[in-house]
Amino acid sequence: MKAKHLFFILLLYVLASCGGGRKLSGPFEVWERTVITMSDSVMYVNVVSDMEDSLGLRAVSKDLTDEELQSDLYAMLSRKMLCTVQSPQQGGVGLAAPQVGILRRIVALQRFDKEGEPFEVYPNLYILEHLGDTVRGPEGCLSIPGKRGVVPRSEGVVVRWTDWQTLQPVTDTVHGFTAIIFQHETDHLDGVLYTDRAESVVDNPEWMEERAPYAAEGAYDKPLWLRGPGY
Ligand code: ZN
Repeated sequence: MKAKHLFFILLLYVLASCGGGRKLSGPFEVWERTVITMSDSVMYVNVVSDMEDSLGLRAVSKDLTDEELQSDLYAMLSRKMLCTVQSPQQGGVGLAAPQVGILRRIVALQRFDKEGEPFEVYPNLYILEHLGDTVRGPEGCLSIPGKRGVVPRSEGVVVRWTDWQTLQPVTDTVHGFTAIIFQHETDHLDGVLYTDRAESVVDNPEWMEERAPYAAEGAYDKPLWLRGPGY
């Protein structure tokens, strides 16, 4: 680890332990604060091929407290997750917080069922109910590059999350492709990957071709400050 990175992490520890200003006063874990503040606006996406990453991808994520939901850190994390999932090098339709190393129940995804197909963020997301028939469709995952699989899912779901402004629970009924995305992303919050449910998983060479120019620029390289002692 480079000296300046170590210094910055130590500085964050000191600021956190002293209470700091509002930006660092939220009760996020110290390591979470480090990841949220030190990450670029396009965050590093954890992959199953990395041993440390894969442990996080298999963990169960925690809810956010009301204080955390209204902190600047949550706002920063939301912005960065939205930026990451929409970035040209990722080009995803959904991203869950454990994929960026934050073990909290937060998902950013695209609402294809809404006008303008906006990307939105859902904290403390749960699926309350599965609706309709089982449908089978192709899925991929930003954490499992170069693969795709056919996955059985429910045609619709009832979801619940917390409105970060009012702190009240909100429910919605979603159908079709957006319901598939909700199921894929909510699975991430429970440490479940689509390959656990897939009827088949095959190589997806087009994915790798699309990503090759970004890979050549180091767009998927794990930042030095995120690398553990195993490197
Ligand atoms: Zn995924």
